[in-house]
Amino acid sequence: MTAERPLRVAVVGAGPAGVYTADALTFDDGPVRVDLLERLPVPFGLLRHGVAPDHLSIKSAENVLHAVLERPGVRLLAGVEVGRDVSLEELHQAYDVVVHAHGAPAVRALGVPGEDLPGSLPAASFVRWYGGEPDAPACPPAGPGVAVVGAGNVALDVARLLLVDPEALLPTDLPHEVLEALRTSPVTDVHLLVRRGLADVRFTLKELRELGRLPGVDVVVGPALLPDGEHPKPVARLLEVFREWSQRPSTGAPRRLHVHARTRPVEVLGTTCVEGLRVEQDGVEQDGAEQVLDVQTVLAAVGYLVPELPGLPHDPLTGAVACAGTRVVRDGAPSPTEHVAGWARRGATGVLGAARSDGLDVADAVLADAPALLALRPQDPGGVAELLAA
Ligand code: NAP
Repeated sequence: MTAERPLRVAVVGAGPAGVYTADALTFDDGPVRVDLLERLPVPFGLLRHGVAPDHLSIKSAENVLHAVLERPGVRLLAGVEVGRDVSLEELHQAYDVVVHAHGAPAVRALGVPGEDLPGSLPAASFVRWYGGEPDAPACPPAGPGVAVVGAGNVALDVARLLLVDPEALLPTDLPHEVLEALRTSPVTDVHLLVRRGLADVRFTLKELRELGRLPGVDVVVGPALLPDGEHPKPVARLLEVFREWSQRPSTGAPRRLHVHARTRPVEVLGTTCVEGLRVEQDGVEQDGAEQVLDVQTVLAAVGYLVPELPGLPHDPLTGAVACAGTRVVRDGAPSPTEHVAGWARRGATGVLGAARSDGLDVADAVLADAPALLALRPQDPGGVAELLAA
């Protein structure tokens, strides 16, 4: 890298993957200048608005990310949307390297009739509300019964927030109006719907155990749902949790978590709002047995999607940006000037640690290319701040 001018990098998205990328590019205060372009008025994406408020140790990573934003080589341009305020072509003109870290803001639909009824919504909307995302509409639960569809950690987060004693959330930064709504919440029964068997869930052990430790909540798991046979250790540990839950006697607690495995939603029932959820269960008593769950709210926690953005190649296999390593692949060739990090790289899977290692991977590749990139364009391309001001 020459001392004459800095290497200019634009990172699109100031969520964890974007900020960790800025971190890895500037940790030594070297001649790299990073502009983080963020659609929202505030940074940190899912870390700020997606991590459950009671997961304080994960949330504390925000302190590390804050320190990155304070570095002289890093600038946050918040409220800037690529494609609306600035085009991808303009970014390439104004920077040596563009890193796509826009995450997976779209949600997968359930794909059943009635899913658009008021009271049936993506769990992501509920998460955005309790996570205090600016402009997120309020979505307090509508009645005593809630169905949470999906067997990933988002389903566990929303089930826990619906069942936890709200007073336990006092030391968190849960928005005041959400705390008030949870204090007056009518919820007594949360139904967790797992479409495959209990050996196929995507929950992580710590988060699953946490759900079983909530005071004032009985957990209901039919013993018939527990699969027989040998399982790999991580699966066996999860099954052990379900087994222990299945042996718990009812304590008559005021709230209950019902775990339904091999159970798919078939139709959200109701005329003007959710009045029930018709589900189909396989392999327990009788294949295809249908029942109606008495719920007034349906939250679909069935995964996030990386949007297909104009001008960016999409890989249908990963559901993310087409890439080799961190390099965006165009016409079969990995790009030297365009990288991808976080969920935009891998699809909507992986925790905070994966975002951090993506940032390191991007920095390794970018810094290796830096001398060639600077030689290619001796003039400082300047960044987009002036363009945006204009
Ligand atoms: P996920 O882990 O991919 O889980 C999605 C779940 O939805 C899967 O169980 C999937 O079942 C199910 N599903 C998909 N389509 C369905 C349908 N039509 N009907 C019923 N079920 C359906 O996604 P996520 O929960 O959104 O989490 C995303 C990532 O963030 C994960 O890596 C997760 O660990 C992470 N995360 C971590 C934390 C934490 O550390 N505390 C908190 C939140 C999220 P199949 O397996 O059968 O496809």
